[in-house]
Amino acid sequence: MIVDSHCHLNILPEEKVGNLDDVIAKARELGVNRILCVAINPGQWQDVLDLADRYEEVYASIGVHPCEDKDVVVTDEALIAAASHPKVIAIGEVGLDYFHFEEMCAVEGGMKWQHDRFTQHIRIAKQLNKPLIIHTRNSTPDCLAMLAKEGAEQVGGIMHCFVEDLDTAEQAIALGFYISFSGIVTFKNAKALKAVATALPLDKILVETDAPYLAPMPFRGKTNQPGYTRYVVEEIAKLKELPFETVAEATTANFNRLFNL
Ligand SMILES: [Zn+2]
Ligand SMILES: [Zn+2]
Repeated sequence: MIVDSHCHLNILPEEKVGNLDDVIAKARELGVNRILCVAINPGQWQDVLDLADRYEEVYASIGVHPCEDKDVVVTDEALIAAASHPKVIAIGEVGLDYFHFEEMCAVEGGMKWQHDRFTQHIRIAKQLNKPLIIHTRNSTPDCLAMLAKEGAEQVGGIMHCFVEDLDTAEQAIALGFYISFSGIVTFKNAKALKAVATALPLDKILVETDAPYLAPMPFRGKTNQPGYTRYVVEEIAKLKELPFETVAEATTANFNRLFNL
């Protein structure tokens, strides 16, 4: 069995990948039998809950992405209510993203709204005892510092679509987080990332698609889908010189351990 630890099943374009029954059937064919569908704003929460109800292999994560407009503020009560669905196993994706907010970053306190959103999600995750799904871009020192300061270690979680260096990965692991690799690790020019995947212990690694984005080789540039997690597993097996099954089983066991499944 393979687990796609992060995808956006609710926004897959049907004209590109077929309907969701087809997508799920194809995932099964490729050995992907567990999928975490991640919401990025409150407008998506009901959609991901509906998908979790509809498909046995689909679980859900509830949160507000750091790139959502600063006016998107949710109450603790709304987050807690959505997260009370029995198949909501995580809080996120949430985190810090400075890449898209250069002007605000240049102003003292200009990113307070993103920090506040992140702090709220960490606090609720701890209250509900659910791991966090972390998105970080051009912001990793601040992100790790906030995770440490807010006590995120209590619940741990996933550094999703990891693209940073080994030192960053090790700091996140020390805080109770797993490192999730997407299709980027299959790209020919991703040499540094391949080295990180090679170096990290197998019991700290997860795999994901982030579909519909970031399709792995040999589908780079096309629409991604959960079944393609298989190609990320293949790449990591190749890098680590391990049998495919060993990596599939270990990453699945890691996911199940994190979420008590
Ligand atoms: Zn993300
Ligand atoms: Zn995502």
